[in-house]
Amino acid sequence: MIKCLIIGSGPAGFTAAIYTSRANLQPVLYEGHLPGGQLTTTTEVENFPGYPEGITGPELMADLRKQAMRFGADIRAGRVTAVDFEHYPFKVTIDSREEVHAESVIVCTGAYARYLGIPDEKKYAGLGVSTCATCDGFFYRNRVVAVVGGGDTACEEACYLAGLAKKVYLIVRKNYLRASKVMQKRVFENDKIEVLFNTNTVGLFGEEYVEGAHLVEYKGEPDERFFDIAIDGFFLAIGHKPNTELFKGQLELDDEGYIILHGRTQATNIKGVFAAGDVCDPSYQQAISAAGSGCRAALDVERFLLNRES
Ligand code: NDP
Repeated sequence: MIKCLIIGSGPAGFTAAIYTSRANLQPVLYEGHLPGGQLTTTTEVENFPGYPEGITGPELMADLRKQAMRFGADIRAGRVTAVDFEHYPFKVTIDSREEVHAESVIVCTGAYARYLGIPDEKKYAGLGVSTCATCDGFFYRNRVVAVVGGGDTACEEACYLAGLAKKVYLIVRKNYLRASKVMQKRVFENDKIEVLFNTNTVGLFGEEYVEGAHLVEYKGEPDERFFDIAIDGFFLAIGHKPNTELFKGQLELDDEGYIILHGRTQATNIKGVFAAGDVCDPSYQQAISAAGSGCRAALDVERFLLNRES
């Protein structure tokens, strides 16, 4: 019987593991299909407090993992493929073959940024293609960048980048922005932002790093027009999707699939199941806020187990 089972190995999962192992709850953490989470796909991380010189995403995750192991967390390779939260203790299936039972669970399965699906996004990953302006914008000071998307995230990222970059293209596939009026106003009033409506990206080019994008205006229509823009950075802001497929029908999810938290805690609708990190956070989605919520979930688990015993 596992006292505390942690699903996911991003900053939330490892922080929960550090706290629960120090509280002697002997946590078991399953790393999932992307050990270390989204941060392992980024390069430099400069906004995680405590690293004045910055640190790479993979190094940061390796440090957090090491810190969790130092206190005895049992970190296992394996992917959770099914859960039964309806019966207590909870039953969790690993890699479709092994079953484990747990008295409490912390879900830290994260979210993934949506990509357009063009091959060049992969080719230039970390070489000019980014899904996080807050993380990578600093590298594009006085450069030219493009942001794809027409929602609040895209507008927010375009405004943020306009504070750093020389020029920002906002590439919007429709002839209007889906973002809130206030965000639209900020975009339209910013001289550094040029909105390209009715435009889709077909490819990226550049010797080693991104040097430009191939675009098409009025795709498939009579006045279709192909053209290129010169850019140094290409930011995708077309939404995130939380990894919650597994929990549908058991945990309460919002319309976008994020886990709904209850009260001022990390509790879900099921007593003994908690959530932390991007999987329950549609708005902040930062490594440090995920780590913070991992700590909160660990403390919630401690209280839950204590109350059960007494
Ligand atoms: P949204 O789903 O709101 O917007 C996604 C945008 O990406 C849309 O403009 C969509 O275009 C576009 N898009 C999707 N797929 C493609 C594609 N294949 N090619 C080109 N464009 C594409 O996601 P957000 O991340 O912007 O926002 C998520 C939620 O978080 C929203 O509810 C938002 O309001 C909220 N949020 C709030 C903020 C705030 O209040 N400060 C800040 C950030 C987010 P189309 O319109 O054509 O579908």
